Amino acid sequence: MEKKKRKVIVLGAGISGLSAARRLLALGADVSLWESSSRVGGVIDTVQRGGLQFEQSTDNFITTVPTVIELCRELGLEDDLVQTNNRDRRTYVVRKRRLHPLPDGFMMLAPTKLWPMVVTPLLSPLGKLRAGLELLIPRKKDLGDETIGHFARRRLGREVTDRIVEPLLSGIYAGDAEKISLDATLPRFRELERKYRSLIVAMTLGQRAARRARRQEESGARYSLFMTLRSGLAELPKAIARRFPEGTLRLGRRAVSVRRREPDQWLVTDDAGQSETCDGVICALPSCAAGGLFSESVPEAARFYNTMEQTGCAVCSMAFKTEQIRAKFAGMGFVVPTIEGGILVAGSFSSHKYPHRAPEGITLLRLFVGGARAPEVVEMEPEALRKRVLDEIRPMLRIEGEPIDTELARWPRGMPQYYLGHLDRLAELEKALERYPGLALCGNSFRGVGIPACVESGYSAAESVCAQAKES
Ligand SMILES: Cc1cc2nc3c(=O)[nH]c(=O)nc-3n(C[C@H](O)[C@H](O)[C@H](O)COP(=O)(O)OP(=O)(O)OC[C@H]3O[C@@H](n4cnc5c(N)ncnc54)[C@H](O)[C@@H]3O)c2cc1C
Repeated sequence: MEKKKRKVIVLGAGISGLSAARRLLALGADVSLWESSSRVGGVIDTVQRGGLQFEQSTDNFITTVPTVIELCRELGLEDDLVQTNNRDRRTYVVRKRRLHPLPDGFMMLAPTKLWPMVVTPLLSPLGKLRAGLELLIPRKKDLGDETIGHFARRRLGREVTDRIVEPLLSGIYAGDAEKISLDATLPRFRELERKYRSLIVAMTLGQRAARRARRQEESGARYSLFMTLRSGLAELPKAIARRFPEGTLRLGRRAVSVRRREPDQWLVTDDAGQSETCDGVICALPSCAAGGLFSESVPEAARFYNTMEQTGCAVCSMAFKTEQIRAKFAGMGFVVPTIEGGILVAGSFSSHKYPHRAPEGITLLRLFVGGARAPEVVEMEPEALRKRVLDEIRPMLRIEGEPIDTELARWPRGMPQYYLGHLDRLAELEKALERYPGLALCGNSFRGVGIPACVESGYSAAESVCAQAKES
């Protein structure tokens, strides 16, 4: 007699839930994927209009791990992959409403070249001197976690922290550098300090080794640090969903509770009061949606989700005729330090970074606002928000006139924040989950917010639910 397939319900059809469902199907499970909205992709969304391509949240994905490129290949999307324009990959930092190049070689938390730090107008002579002292600062004695702000100030001084590190971090996490955990977000820098003491020494040696490795590489495809899809990033979740067997995806089905049914069954109920039993559940929801589902059945999960902060943010895209923008720039985009004031966190020259996103003669800007510095943006009237963004960007880029098209996407609680102690809370949760066979949690609340981390979290959730089945 044929063995009955293990039935697993996956909650949430963002990239995490879709990846979990895809891997479960490959492992032979019977999958039901519940999604409360009418489309797949979650925060990943692309709008196309009049030759313009607006990415409403996720702009691109990092290629230092091969996960997403491999997924695209499996989905037949390899020809759709595009690299960033390699003409000029510069990033700018705003100071007193003007764009200045990020000192060449500055990598998130450390400079790798000294001369660009010496000549940058972003820092005062004292700030530069303090940054140079990093070469002499001893390593931290205790091994405890610390915030990114604390770590950067300790090593490089206040000015580099406020003017360079903080805005680079905000551009990714939209968070508060004084609260975000180093170990949970940039553990590599902690390791570098442990191993080499000075970050400048460590990064300089690392860069040399990377250059040597590149020279020795004889063949093989090389990708830019970030990539996207020519047809828009929303094609990735859609392509995953298109390959599901009929009946797998249940759009418009909102889960309201997940309860355990002894001995190893789960009962999931939707907002229409319909319940289904299953052998396994994978929750791929954002923390704000997930906490309430587990309050009775898995209080440890409810507690973890409910204590996770999520900041609100918005992406405002504006298209201009190129001659309307009088400031001269040639790069990927810019970041804005919190100390500059205002709601703007970062901007990308979207159509320079990826030329397919706008017709010739049009410049598409993608402006990221809100986060920890201005969470109120998600409450603002769309028109007021657009005007505020334009008022802030106009003097920086010396823009004349009004945009020829705009698109606004607001993401209330869109960015989970890995605050100090995140990894300890996660370890506690993972220990507690051992008592709940058949349940796995994935998504951007755990070990990374980027697309590769979300895909990997979906894969491991699927594998853990199936591995538990083999053990039992
Ligand atoms: C503005 C912004 C810019 C970003 N830029 C980048 C970038 O450039 N590069 C990058 O790698 N990452 C970026 N990210 C991060 C990345 O996009 C996200 O972390 C990732 O897409 C989250 O995917 P997810 O599947 O975990 O969650 P989500 O995308 O939030 O999906 C969760 C799904 O669950 C559904 N749902 C909610 N409640 C229920 C319920 N009760 N029952 C059933 N379904 C439910 C939702 O409708 C949604 O579809 C960005 C994020 C934002 C907000």
